[in-house]
Amino acid sequence: EADIPSEVIAGLAELGVLGMTVGPEHGGRGFSQQNYCRIIEVIGAHCASTAVFVNAHHSIGVRGLELFGTDEQKRRWMKPMTNGDKLAAFALTEPDAGSDAGNVRTQAVPTPDGSGYHLTGEKRYITNGAIADVLTVMARTPDPSEPDGKITAFLVTPDMPGFEIVEARMEKCGIKGTATARLAFHEMFVPKENVLGRVGGGLKVALTVLDFGRTTFGASCTGAAKFCVERAVAHANERKQFGQTLGEFELVKDKIALAAADTYAMESMTYHTAALIDSGAHDYMLETAMLKVFASDNLWRIVNDTLQIHGGAGYFSDEPFERMMRDARINLIGEGANDVLRLFIAMVGLRGLGLQLQGVAKAPWNAASLVRPTPSLPVTNGILQPASARLARNVGKFARACRNTLIRYREAILDAQAVQARLGDAATELFAASCVYSRLSSLMQHPPQDETSFERELQTGLLSMKVAHRRIRGLLAGLRDNDDADLVRTANLWLGGSK
Ligand SMILES: Cc1cc2nc3c(=O)[nH]c(=O)nc-3n(C[C@H](O)[C@H](O)[C@H](O)COP(=O)(O)OP(=O)(O)OC[C@H]3O[C@@H](n4cnc5c(N)ncnc54)[C@H](O)[C@@H]3O)c2cc1C
Repeated sequence: EADIPSEVIAGLAELGVLGMTVGPEHGGRGFSQQNYCRIIEVIGAHCASTAVFVNAHHSIGVRGLELFGTDEQKRRWMKPMTNGDKLAAFALTEPDAGSDAGNVRTQAVPTPDGSGYHLTGEKRYITNGAIADVLTVMARTPDPSEPDGKITAFLVTPDMPGFEIVEARMEKCGIKGTATARLAFHEMFVPKENVLGRVGGGLKVALTVLDFGRTTFGASCTGAAKFCVERAVAHANERKQFGQTLGEFELVKDKIALAAADTYAMESMTYHTAALIDSGAHDYMLETAMLKVFASDNLWRIVNDTLQIHGGAGYFSDEPFERMMRDARINLIGEGANDVLRLFIAMVGLRGLGLQLQGVAKAPWNAASLVRPTPSLPVTNGILQPASARLARNVGKFARACRNTLIRYREAILDAQAVQARLGDAATELFAASCVYSRLSSLMQHPPQDETSFERELQTGLLSMKVAHRRIRGLLAGLRDNDDADLVRTANLWLGGSK
């Protein structure tokens, strides 16, 4: 029926799911990010629509108010948002501001009496947009330092005159239970008390809540991936062809092993990132971006492989896999398209090294500062020694590859997207391997009683690190041996471009 029934939303509210990280003083559970992720993982394993609904309400809705709201704003909205009386949404995307989020065109013009702003513009693809009672809306306010103004976040309620729901539920490929809206604002008055955060500080609000949203993607993808592994194993053990169970065929084994290994990695990355947030660290935008890209890319393949293992049965709607496939597709687009995030990871990651290289160009006698020794990692158990040594070598190789790439391309790196994407992906694989290594180290120190599950976890983690190693090797080799120029030339002929 393409809906999340109101009794389900009421049930989620009753359980405390709609205000998990909100402090008890506002009626919330006061959960850490790690515990929040545990709940989202369970929801993601059952229903992607519900996970996206909770993400829009909580991770990118309530969180903004929690982190940037004034005492008065919190007093007014936090409790009703936590107990489900009021639902939240986050409205950034517009026809001309998708991946280019800084290009928001919605204008917020201050009223002459200084009491507030008149907002005019359009928003599209807004999850919960037509069912929300409080929307965080990004709009452009005048700023003396920027001719185009700066982006400011506003708390908007649908009863404001000038608020229009253009389309309440856009028809779409998957996560059909969620209501995705198109909205318009016609000189809609918003009082100045409803500015969220600083005037001109809207991008900071947006980027911060998206960090939480991307961590939530990691958790919900982990839940869905675990479900797939469980179902693929059950089917492979039961279904017989050619007189054997499917699980006896090597190509089926390969799919199951890789799914288990990548699921182990995404789970490790999710809880490592959540722990980083809980530690009070201020900057985790690279980790959340790497987690989102890794989890969504791999879940997409895992769902595909699970459907393949189920054969024709997987294609029919009485099994959940065709729905899961449609649902999983949004993860590669929402909250930053994966290709855009790959570039973001590379360019943000390379910034420090770029500045260092500029410094060395001015003072060549400092060149020695660019040489980094291969790091040594703590080893809690001899079994982990080969994996530890490989990971350390890969960190060293990656550092050298970054340095050589910057020396080779200089400013031209800004246009070399395929090169950036390889470095971004290699960084992501290194992050995955590091999170898995850290988890395996802890496993060796505190092994579980059950020997079978211990052996399986150890083997799965070690496989995951080997897979990361091969992927990194391929990505770094691709920096020198690739068809980038031919790809661009061919695409230009199709696109009618001149380059
Ligand atoms: C179901 C759904 C729910 C959503 N919910 C919300 C919500 O609640 N709130 C909200 O604000 N937004 C929401 N969005 C919007 C979502 O965040 C955007 O769709 C996403 O950021 C991509 O923007 P776009 O669709 O305009 O794609 P575009 O920006 O048009 O990009 C299309 C493709 O072009 C490529 N591309 C773009 N830029 C570059 C580049 N610089 N280099 C290389 N390749 C590039 C990428 O492959 C990208 O996938 C939702 C979207 C969907 C589909």
